[in-house]
Amino acid sequence: MTAVVHHEIPQQRLLVTEIPGPRSVALQARKTQAVSNGVGVTLPIYVVRAGGGVLIDADGNSFIDMGSGIAVTTVGNANPDVVRAVQEQVADFTHTCFMVTPYAGYVEVCEALNRVTPGDHEKRSALLNSGAEAIENAVKIARSYTRRQAVVVLEHGYHGRTNLTMGMTAKSMPYKHSFGPFAPEVYRVPASYPFRDRGLKGPEMAEIATTRIDREIGAENVAAIVMEPILGEGGFIVPSPGYYKAMADYAKANGIVFVADEIQSGFCRTGDWFASEFEDVVPDLITTAKGIADGMPLAAVTGRAEIMDAVHPGGLGGTYGGNPVACAAALAAIDWMERNDAPALARQIESVMIPRLRELALQFPAIGDIRGRGAMIAIELVKPGTMDPNTELAAALNKYCHQHGVVTLTTGTYGNVFRFLPPLTMPLPLLEEALGILQQGFEEATR
Ligand SMILES: *Cc1c(COP(=O)(O)O)cnc(C)c1O
Repeated sequence: MTAVVHHEIPQQRLLVTEIPGPRSVALQARKTQAVSNGVGVTLPIYVVRAGGGVLIDADGNSFIDMGSGIAVTTVGNANPDVVRAVQEQVADFTHTCFMVTPYAGYVEVCEALNRVTPGDHEKRSALLNSGAEAIENAVKIARSYTRRQAVVVLEHGYHGRTNLTMGMTAKSMPYKHSFGPFAPEVYRVPASYPFRDRGLKGPEMAEIATTRIDREIGAENVAAIVMEPILGEGGFIVPSPGYYKAMADYAKANGIVFVADEIQSGFCRTGDWFASEFEDVVPDLITTAKGIADGMPLAAVTGRAEIMDAVHPGGLGGTYGGNPVACAAALAAIDWMERNDAPALARQIESVMIPRLRELALQFPAIGDIRGRGAMIAIELVKPGTMDPNTELAAALNKYCHQHGVVTLTTGTYGNVFRFLPPLTMPLPLLEEALGILQQGFEEATR
């Protein structure tokens, strides 16, 4: 099976200058003068075109894209179907504000979300601009519905950079450091982290977490449990079987709104439409963004009609939420996913990557763990023979890959997780080539 995409730019890794090349270096110098130092850049190659599985920079270098702009361009950057839909919409009108004079695209995206998200109960959706904004709104909705205040999140969780979502995010540096005080009534409980839980099973970890909720917060005070089915920025941590389901069941038994943050794991990324499906969990609310609209800014909260409709009229919204151009992109992206069986494309990427990474792990003992699902895969690097995070190796490998034309990302609470988020349109030979570069990186870094 291959992704049915006509790649308009050559699908190849091609380096014609040093990395970064002179044009990118010049742009980066202007960036330093013009852009806040707080806005970091992982790899300062300035992109001019992209598509399929590659990014082309201002110097004509062609990189294999193993990041998809952090799990956003799932259907391929500048997917021709999305481009066409955006061009048509942009020529008709760019904005009216849905809250003032509505348009069909917004309603159609909500209909699509209500159809593709887990569960066949009656649903409603609301559209926003960013993942963090979707989380903020999910919390508003859950509080309004339950008339409770507490929000429970997980260790290693990531939910965004606004004030409420910073408080919900676990990691201090770089997300929270020096930015407090944070919003009250946010409580953190243990996640399931199989590699570091010393053999504790999923249900046992859930027991620890829910006991904490009972003792320290009181279930009757909890409006929402907000969690990622696979922890993204925390290190692509796949919880032990049973943990996720047990947390959802606990929420149900206690009148707590269970919110699945599928902003990174959703839209076919993990080999299902949504990662919650893997454990047959039907969340009360689900937040989406990233993969929803192939890079156009769009996010959503989707969930049970009685919860979503509990909010007073006018309580949700925003000037740009559900922008018509972003909606056109989302409809084209979702249509592409349905026509091309996108979950199967993600599983195919997994079936190439996991065996290859297992081979590498036999050769390089620094690979302590291989995990993830579909096109959301990671390796956790340790100092050989220990559980100590090997952050230096992750950084060295990242640098090697970047220098050799592969865009890669690190992540994790300890910065020692090397993660892969290729677009589902990645040609498989390029995927193999990227893994070959990774192998060379290991050889060089561990020599
Ligand atoms: C990226 C992300 C967010 C925040 O989304 P933004 O669009 O950057 O605001 C929230 N939750 C998860 C799981 C994410 O991966």
